Amino acid sequence: MRTLVVDHPLVTHKLTALRDAASDTATFRSLTAELVTLLAYEATREMRVQPVSVDTPVGVARGVKLARPVPLIVPVLRAGIGMLEGMTRLLPMADVGFVGLRRDEESLVASTYADRLPTDLTDRDTFVLDPMLATGGTLATVISMLAARGAASVTAICLLAAPEGLHHVETVFAEDKEPGVRVVTAAVDERLNERGYIVPGLGDAGDRLFGRI
Ligand code: URA
Repeated sequence: MRTLVVDHPLVTHKLTALRDAASDTATFRSLTAELVTLLAYEATREMRVQPVSVDTPVGVARGVKLARPVPLIVPVLRAGIGMLEGMTRLLPMADVGFVGLRRDEESLVASTYADRLPTDLTDRDTFVLDPMLATGGTLATVISMLAARGAASVTAICLLAAPEGLHHVETVFAEDKEPGVRVVTAAVDERLNERGYIVPGLGDAGDRLFGRI
C-alpha cells in the first residue's frame, strides 16, 4: 500500500479552517468539498486512460480520454456522503456505490449494514471516500469488499489519517497484493485517543457535516 500526504499550501490552509471548532456546518461542508476536489486531483493521477485524437479548428491533436469502464466512487456512510460533491465535480462521469459500516463504540470493531456496490468491478478504478482514517478497520473492510469484486485499483481519499489506522491498512494490504491500494490524505495526525478519535483531528466528521443524531 502507498500513502500520499498532499503537502500543498491550499490543502493545509483549508484543512486548518476545517479543524477549527468555530467553523459552522455550512463552512465545514463547503471546505470539505473544496478539500476533496484538491485531494482528488492527486488521487486520480494514475487513472486508466486511452489515447484518442481530436480535430481542433487548426489540425489534429493527440490526447487521452478516461478508459472504460468508468471509475466507481464509494462514499462510506454517513460522513463520506459529505465528500461526494467535491469528488463528482472532478469525475462527473463516474458511477457511485455506497457502503455503510457501523462502529461498535466499545470494541471499535466495524460491521457492514449497507452494501450497494456492483458485483463485478473488473478493470475499474475505485475511489473510497471516508473523511477520517482512524483505526483503519472500516477502510480495510471496504477495500476488501472492492478487491473481492475484482477492482483494478482502490484509492482511499481521507481528509485526515491517524498513524495507527495507516499502519493497520498497510499491514492488511502489503505492497505485493492485488489490487493496487493507495491512501491520499491532507495530513497524518499524532494519534488516536481512547475513544478512537484522531488527535488533534477535527472531531466527529459526520456530526460536523450533518449534525448529531
Ligand atoms: N471518526 C471521526 O469522525 N472522527 C475521528 O476523529 C475518528 C473517527
